[in-house]
Amino acid sequence: MTVEPMTKNNIKALYSESIRDMEVYIMFRIAKRVVELTPELNAKNRPPIRLSMGAPVVDPPKGLINKLKEAVDQPGVHTYSTPKGEKFFRDAVVQRMKTRFGVDVNADKEVCSLIGSKEGLANMFRALISYRTNPAEQDVIMIPDPGYASYADAIKICGGYPYAIKLTPENQYKPEFEDLLADMRKEGITPDRVKAMVLNYPSNPIGATAGMDYYEKAVAFCKQHNILLISDIAYADVYFPGEEAPHSVLEVPGAKDITIEFHSLSKPYGTTGWRIGFSFSSVDLAKKMSAFQSHTTSNPSSPAQEAALEAYTDRERAQAEVARMVEAFRRRRDLVTSLFAEVVPDLPYVKPNGAFYLFFRVDSLFREGMADSGAVCTWLLEEAEIAMVPGVAFGDDRYVRMS
Ligand code: PLP
Repeated sequence: MTVEPMTKNNIKALYSESIRDMEVYIMFRIAKRVVELTPELNAKNRPPIRLSMGAPVVDPPKGLINKLKEAVDQPGVHTYSTPKGEKFFRDAVVQRMKTRFGVDVNADKEVCSLIGSKEGLANMFRALISYRTNPAEQDVIMIPDPGYASYADAIKICGGYPYAIKLTPENQYKPEFEDLLADMRKEGITPDRVKAMVLNYPSNPIGATAGMDYYEKAVAFCKQHNILLISDIAYADVYFPGEEAPHSVLEVPGAKDITIEFHSLSKPYGTTGWRIGFSFSSVDLAKKMSAFQSHTTSNPSSPAQEAALEAYTDRERAQAEVARMVEAFRRRRDLVTSLFAEVVPDLPYVKPNGAFYLFFRVDSLFREGMADSGAVCTWLLEEAEIAMVPGVAFGDDRYVRMS
């Protein structure tokens, strides 16, 4: 038997089905396209306006930057950190949990450090889902729709089935949970296939927020049906004046039995590239999360953990820094909405209560040759030099997201 030599083409047969057609994450594809177009646009004196990536362009607080610089000069920080996070880091995030949300967490047993909450979410999905290709047999994870673009892809990579929880103006972006189960049953999905439900408030891309009453219902629902509640509160500190401060699901008594909550330094401090986040959960789950991480990534860097310490130990200063960031986001939100009112008063959009996005409808612009949100974004970038993200990436092709 002759064996074909390995080539660019037949190596693809080695790939697992889940990555065979995988492309780079949409935000990085758009960023690359912007870089490609930049010289041409600069030459026309029309530099691109980058409103695509979910990363603040406001600089991180000086205190954090200085702490990161200092940390790099300390002995012992250049090696692998411990899987669940350095002790000083766990103590700092536990302190934040107490002062910001009034929740007690055990620093040694219920915390896991993460290379951003995205890593934690991806690890969690891998830990829950058994790889299957038949949609009728796949483990189901319920995710918000529209929702963070990464959820569905990260679930599909694991051979799971992302079930869209429709967030609509009619249900005020907070659907009734039992209705969801009834809808799923109609599609042949039984509750025993549902492993987890993801909630994300304040939400990406619509900036919706949720109150304690909704979290109480979510916890009761998940307990009743033995579903893990995955709460993603990456934007917990990004909410606008007049809004109630977003809650943690762990404020609900008994929630920890059935909840893992992901937190991140990325968004309120403009430190997306530092890659530092953390989760709180039951002892058993926290152990599993850090065990998993110890096999896959060998944990976040110690200097990033030191910077987090700076963010969380002096609450007053941290609050002032975050308030400065949020004020910049509010000014921009209000500027955009007032321009919308002036220039395109009929264009529907969701006014965000939190996070830093504006999700607006563009289907009235659809025509031959520009029939979906992707085509609208290409047009916006090539003709108006503005980079934004097609709504289809978040589950709704009628919209475009501006960051
Ligand atoms: N969760 C949501 C809702 C997000 O929008 C993002 C990033 O855009 C993340 C999590 C991941 O953030 P990070 O990995 O930087 O903590």
